[in-house]
Amino acid sequence: MDLIPDLSNAYKLQLSMFLEENRLESFKKWVFDDDQPCNAAKMAEAGFYSTATKSDPDLVQCFLCSKPLDGWDAKDNPWEEHLSHSKTCTFAKLKLPEEELTCVQFAAIRKEQLQNVYKKHFADLIQDRKDAWDEFCASIEEVAKMK
Ligand SMILES: [Zn+2]
Repeated sequence: MDLIPDLSNAYKLQLSMFLEENRLESFKKWVFDDDQPCNAAKMAEAGFYSTATKSDPDLVQCFLCSKPLDGWDAKDNPWEEHLSHSKTCTFAKLKLPEEELTCVQFAAIRKEQLQNVYKKHFADLIQDRKDAWDEFCASIEEVAKMK
């Protein structure tokens, strides 16, 4: 058994969404046109990538704070919506497009993203182990009842 099993695909995807160009790629079928305030480029700039489904075509998530948001309006400002729904997100608070970040800010955000993703990954692993333990204990109790 690996000490640190591979990240799930969802976490790998989230890590790849650190770069704005990758986030923009995710918006190929975005619900609003480029001439609307809430266009794909502005969404990607504000830290979002598309996690759309057939039943939720405007569902997005922040690459850093993981905040999922949907129910967008064509006139929404993605930066303002991001900050109003995720007040502690470092990226939303900076309100700077990727190209305006300093190297120090860029590195600090990447570090925070890695920490956030690995924290969730390890929490998932711990929960999986707890679930397996509970299942094991329940099966032991079942065996004990048989006697
Ligand atoms: Zn965020």
